[in-house]
Amino acid sequence: MADYDAIVVGAGHNGLAAASVLAKRGLSVLCLEKTNWNGGQAATKELFEGYKHSVGAWALLVFRREMLELLGLEKYGLELITPETSYCSFGEPGDAPFVAYSDTAKMAEMVMKDHGLDAIQGLAALSEYLQPFKVIFEGAIGGNPRPLEQLIAEAPDVETRERLIRICYSASAMDIVRQFFPDPEKHRCILGSLMASAIDGTHMGPYTPGSGLSLAYHYLAGDAYDFKVPRGGIGALSNAIERAFLDAGGEIRYRTPVKRLLIQDGKATGVELRDGETISAKVVLSSLDARATFLNLAGKEHLPSEFAHAVEEIQYTNGYIQIHMTLKELPRFTGHLEFANKDKIGWLVAYIPSAEHLQKNWEEYQRNEVPETPVSYCYFPSVRDPSLAPEGRYTCTIFSHYFPADPPPGKHNEYRDLMAERAIDAIERFAPSFRDAIIDKVVLTQEYFKKTFGVTAGDFASGLLHPSQMWDKRPVPGSGSYRTPIENLVMCGAACHPGPGVTCRPGYNAAMEVLEDWQD
Ligand SMILES: Cc1cc2nc3c(=O)[nH]c(=O)nc-3n(C[C@H](O)[C@H](O)[C@H](O)COP(=O)(O)OP(=O)(O)OC[C@H]3O[C@@H](n4cnc5c(N)ncnc54)[C@H](O)[C@@H]3O)c2cc1C
Repeated sequence: MADYDAIVVGAGHNGLAAASVLAKRGLSVLCLEKTNWNGGQAATKELFEGYKHSVGAWALLVFRREMLELLGLEKYGLELITPETSYCSFGEPGDAPFVAYSDTAKMAEMVMKDHGLDAIQGLAALSEYLQPFKVIFEGAIGGNPRPLEQLIAEAPDVETRERLIRICYSASAMDIVRQFFPDPEKHRCILGSLMASAIDGTHMGPYTPGSGLSLAYHYLAGDAYDFKVPRGGIGALSNAIERAFLDAGGEIRYRTPVKRLLIQDGKATGVELRDGETISAKVVLSSLDARATFLNLAGKEHLPSEFAHAVEEIQYTNGYIQIHMTLKELPRFTGHLEFANKDKIGWLVAYIPSAEHLQKNWEEYQRNEVPETPVSYCYFPSVRDPSLAPEGRYTCTIFSHYFPADPPPGKHNEYRDLMAERAIDAIERFAPSFRDAIIDKVVLTQEYFKKTFGVTAGDFASGLLHPSQMWDKRPVPGSGSYRTPIENLVMCGAACHPGPGVTCRPGYNAAMEVLEDWQD
């Protein structure tokens, strides 16, 4: 007789989503978490007394509202703020900033005013071009995806099929976007902004073949210009899921790292904790990425050799920095960003002058150098949610791609601090009082996420968004399923289809998979 019906390893938002679905169906479920808080990469913490920062993820970028209902979260007090503007992407004076309004009519009006009719036509044509991908994506979001090749082969006509092949395999993000912006110089900020989201979670630049798929994922997985931010920080989502889980009779143990999975005759039978305690279960779900699950917790000896080899080949190289700050006042934007002081538009500004600038950062990164002027997202969450900071004070976070993935030995901290200063410089150029407003700051890199949450190489995509690692090739190429070669071991985190981001989808889908053949 097993101690529990199900054990879920990790109380990140996906682990909790899976656990709560199973507990609601009456299974006895134990969730085990290595840290002493929930949310994993999507946690909100008091890094500085009196302030709350979302440590990794900060906004619901690819989240769908339907998950609130599917997880029964409505009654747990989760409030989603939808800011009027998602971001204001800017470059050098003379280039009109690109402001993403959540209201489509307002967005069209402002793009027309700031960038002209050809920009509206370009964005509309891009959406239209990606439609066939949206169709297959929607059809595959709810469970084990059929092979992408099969879905493409079933396209209604040759033109659609060729387009899907370009999007899913061969085209770079720039190949796709440029065809709709015949004068890329004129629309530098729009292209820069689209490219920065395309390279997110990849080891690619905007011109790298294959980056088109990540562009499509970011554009279509959620609502492209409609960010949502939970009141109280991103961790409020996991708090709500945890409450739903506990209400359904689930149990969580914090500060309880799982050391290894117990496997007998090819079947998972439970876990062994770091302190030696063993707990048995009929099914074990892992929200960790594939390498952490299969090589660290399960062990190669329990895997078919081809599968183990495929896991070893998964790419996780993803360098970035995240600077969390407290501010004594809000900086004032000047010059061509003066307008962002109004209507809270400046709550999220992004220095992304152009696709070429991003390409330069990518080339520096490939040489393992700190980018000279890093593309940077800078946001002031407490402007939209004052509960995050004491009255009259503010929170601020900067995120920058392309921190060297493998700094020379002994250079990590020096590079980290250099990149942070350069990212702050990039914002200060257009908000001269910024640096003086900073009270405290902490700079995190992929190393922090690796050490704290056991994320392989600190890769926030849990396996990069490359064509060879998406869809039926996720979590492991050749084995695109929540189920694994080890019987009763199920994957339930962002390493699975449809992929990374705060979506709850992999957790929900994995639980449904378990329930499909559950027998009490
Ligand atoms: C800097 C950064 C910025 C991001 N920005 C965004 C954003 O704005 N929007 C967005 O949608 N996504 C963003 N992401 C990505 C997003 O946070 C992740 O894709 C998502 O949170 C992954 O959730 P998960 O539950 O699958 O995994 P995780 O959050 O990694 O959860 C896994 C959990 O397992 C625990 N664990 C690990 N090992 C063990 C063990 N041996 N025993 C027990 N427990 C263990 C970990 O502590 C963790 O709590 C960002 C990520 C980072 C790092």
